Amino acid sequence: MTDAAPLLEASGVVKRFGGFTALDGVDLTVRRGEIVGLIGPNGSGKTTLINVISGLLPADAGTIRLAGVSLAGLAPHRRCAAGVNRTFQVPKPFASLSVRENLEVAALDGVDIDAVLASVELDAHARRRVGDLNSVSQKLLDLARALVTRPSLLLVDELACGLNPVELDRVAGRLRALAAEGIGLVVVEHLMSFIDSITDRVVVMNAGREIFGGRLRDAVRDAAVVEVFLGA
Ligand code: ADP
Repeated sequence: MTDAAPLLEASGVVKRFGGFTALDGVDLTVRRGEIVGLIGPNGSGKTTLINVISGLLPADAGTIRLAGVSLAGLAPHRRCAAGVNRTFQVPKPFASLSVRENLEVAALDGVDIDAVLASVELDAHARRRVGDLNSVSQKLLDLARALVTRPSLLLVDELACGLNPVELDRVAGRLRALAAEGIGLVVVEHLMSFIDSITDRVVVMNAGREIFGGRLRDAVRDAAVVEVFLGA
């Protein structure tokens, strides 16, 4: 491991489902403290890329390195131990356990669960059964579940969907604070105002390939991006 190596370096990642190529040679680099937005139309491969990086799906080709070390062949829990964690579009908590118990199950030794709960403003709900939480609180719990593993790379899949403007501001602030602590983030999101408020850089995907990499304000002027989003 070297500090000079990017936190995440995914290169030439290919993922096929039968005869369908969902990822067609994708590169993605994330540095410590950087928030990269991953955007693109439905079906462009964003969640598949998150699934491959987190180890939920095996890649068919390509390399994925964390701080210079290959993650090849590591199951999700091993990648988590190495520092990669993620949130899910549809969280699947242990519904019959309390909020706090859900975090106790996931937490690394020595993590202050109360501090993590407070950071996502779920401390008042610590003893509630998770099945009784609304969907926004379940999303925040899913973020907390990832945070108690002390990730160095956090992959965030559609966290903003369903949040009101006040909640969006809070979550954006929390993600920016994580980046300020040196965590690298990949944020998959449809809500462009949210992406604009937190990302340094976006990668635009279409049909399993990157079609643009750079600042969002430049992406919206890029002919290929405009064509994909507006069919222009
Ligand atoms: P996005 O997150 O950009 O909406 P996905 O990564 O979910 O896109 O999907 C990319 C493509 O791969 C879609 O065409 C989707 O139908 C397909 N796909 C995703 N997961 C599977 C799977 N498990 N089996 C077959 N096809 C899949």
